Amino acid sequence: MTQLPGSITITGRTRVIGVMADPVAHSMSPPMHNRAFAVRGLDMVYVPLHVKPKDLGAAVEAIRALNLVGVNVTIPHKVAIVPHLDTLSEHARFVGAVNTVVNRDGVLEGHNTDGAGFVRSLRKEAQFEPRGRRLLILGAGGAAQAIAVQLALEGASELIIANRTFEKAVQLAELVERAGGRARAVAFNELTAQVVAECDAVVHTTSWGMAPESDVPPIIPAEMLHADLLVCDIVYTPRETSLLRAARERGCAVLPGVGMLVEQAALAFELWTGVEAPVDAMRETLEQVLAERAEAK
Ligand code: NAP
Repeated sequence: MTQLPGSITITGRTRVIGVMADPVAHSMSPPMHNRAFAVRGLDMVYVPLHVKPKDLGAAVEAIRALNLVGVNVTIPHKVAIVPHLDTLSEHARFVGAVNTVVNRDGVLEGHNTDGAGFVRSLRKEAQFEPRGRRLLILGAGGAAQAIAVQLALEGASELIIANRTFEKAVQLAELVERAGGRARAVAFNELTAQVVAECDAVVHTTSWGMAPESDVPPIIPAEMLHADLLVCDIVYTPRETSLLRAARERGCAVLPGVGMLVEQAALAFELWTGVEAPVDAMRETLEQVLAERAEAK
């Protein structure tokens, strides 16, 4: 990888943070966080930790034993790690999944920054305030849960949840209501232009359209998209998914998934360090990694 300005030096005092995943080699978090530590002059390093599901309990115990500052957790550990932690943030408790662990003197706190990262990107990049607005969520998986709960906590007036497996849309609507929001589940094949017309924004959260399967039609017909909609896609490879292309061509405002990826990382950085994240530098690094990977294909 091309070296960006600002590199880290490991010393006897360097504090360690990692990302636990299986597989982990594809993770874009190490270059983003190491750049952020260098920019902020922090004596910290971020490393990949390949943890198999059977070893998760021992790996979590090692956070204490090795005095790590904390870790990120991703597929397949986000839900499985919950019983191993000491405390959970309100958001992580509702969602039942964790992507960030903070080690406070041996007490392990579980947080989930995915939903707040999405909303931060929504406000900063799309200037969209979710309070009092109706949003259509396409998908009901882990990312959809984090986003929907956060939107409910932020005061969205109603969430309409459409998912291929209808029962999961119903379960997510119930979760949103438990978090104090209003939600309604619809089956994908019952989604109509009228339902979309009543929404201020669409948030696509499934893996449909993700590279290498990106040459697919948009997950909902382009004709359903009206020009006043904001269309968000949390898929970040390719940068412009078929849904975002269709939305742009229909005159909609669009929000790509890269911003959520940067902001969820920035929020984790802030939880570990108590220092404001250098978001622009993290984004520059991420864009560079994404461009290099796209070129290598
Ligand atoms: P997940 O928990 O496995 O959920 C997958 C979702 O996609 C489910 O709603 C599933 O529907 C739906 N789905 C899968 N294949 C589909 C298809 N062929 N047609 C229609 N729906 C389909 O996964 P996740 O963790 O939520 O991640 C979902 C996507 O979000 C991934 O592309 C991931 O890269 C992206 N993501 C981005 C960020 C970011 O920071 N930008 C963060 C997290 C995730 P069923 O319930 O019917 O199976």
